[in-house]
Amino acid sequence: MGRPIQYRRTPPPTRCALCQTQGKELYRCLCGGSVEVMHPAFPRLSWRTIRARPFHHWRYHDFYIHIPRPISLGEGGTSLIHSIQDRGLHFKIEGDNPTGSFKDRGSTIEVSSAQALGARKVVLASTGNMGASVAAYAARGGLECTVYIPHNTTEEKLGEMRAFGTKLVKVRGDYTKAAATARKVARDRGGFLCGDYSLRREGEKSIAFELVDSLGSVDNVVVPMGNGTLISSLWQGFCDLASVGLLRQMPRLIGVQAQGCKPIADAFVGRHSIRTVMPRTIASAIACGDPLDGELALRALSASRGRAVVVSDKEMVVARRAMARHEGIDSEPSGAAPYAAFGKLKLPKDQVTVCVVTGHGLKDLKNV
Ligand SMILES: *Cc1c(COP(=O)(O)O)cnc(C)c1O
Ligand SMILES: [Zn+2]
Repeated sequence: MGRPIQYRRTPPPTRCALCQTQGKELYRCLCGGSVEVMHPAFPRLSWRTIRARPFHHWRYHDFYIHIPRPISLGEGGTSLIHSIQDRGLHFKIEGDNPTGSFKDRGSTIEVSSAQALGARKVVLASTGNMGASVAAYAARGGLECTVYIPHNTTEEKLGEMRAFGTKLVKVRGDYTKAAATARKVARDRGGFLCGDYSLRREGEKSIAFELVDSLGSVDNVVVPMGNGTLISSLWQGFCDLASVGLLRQMPRLIGVQAQGCKPIADAFVGRHSIRTVMPRTIASAIACGDPLDGELALRALSASRGRAVVVSDKEMVVARRAMARHEGIDSEPSGAAPYAAFGKLKLPKDQVTVCVVTGHGLKDLKNV
């Protein structure tokens, strides 16, 4: 038995998204719902005040839980590039982040919180990107890091995690199995559990802040859905801005899943609750058969009058190639899913659409 976490400060107040129970639970409510950090009203501030600060994730610190000394690697402030091929289309290049995916936006908050709460080690499950990201911040913060990985993690991502000195444990099974294992290990042997939970959602809001900061308003934001954390964080970010008058028109969120793993899309289209599946797709970063934030993703889709779109592995490979060859942007298959969906959507040309290119191409060189 390891030593349990000594909490020096108390964690932020949270509320269950399903049954509304309030408390200090950071992970899941007893009812099974996702829990969300509760904020008092945000301070009134202007875009002018915000824009006087450097353009990166911490420019928007007023909207996160308070962290006195964050562990930061200069995350966020990623490029927004307009498309050569399609008028009105922009790409948000999340591969620009320190470890090559948007996960760094969540990891800076999550690992900093772990450290502030007195943790010495972090434990998590990951298909690769979350593991590489948390590992980097843990290394910088002087925390030990153990990652439980499913069978389909790419060699490139394994190498990235090893580089940061992570302890890797292979799980016989998919991401859902790895997530259950990480939860159990953190509970039984101690260690701060990281992953797609409440603290991470705080950080991933910053993509929404940057999009509004750069474009003023956006009509459509197209994102891949794995656990559904990214899409629900984005929605929360837009809501936070609207709550203080920094955003007038809410965008439509378009969530994309792979043909071989589409529990959220199926639930949205069929108007039923999430049904767990066994993932079969090359898009390993979105191969989450039992999405942790599935219900929150459904809420983001309906509240934004959005859509759920399904793309095949072939369509992702074709989209990756087209983005690389015609736009000069390479992405792993999951990050190309939005562009694959964009091709099928036929959105009006006069609308501003952003495809979030979630992860760098160097993370998966097999499916080029
Ligand atoms: C994590 C990840 C996703 C999926 O995000 P969720 O928050 O799990 O929905 C998509 N693409 C890439 C590259 C990722 O790393
Ligand atoms: Zn609940």
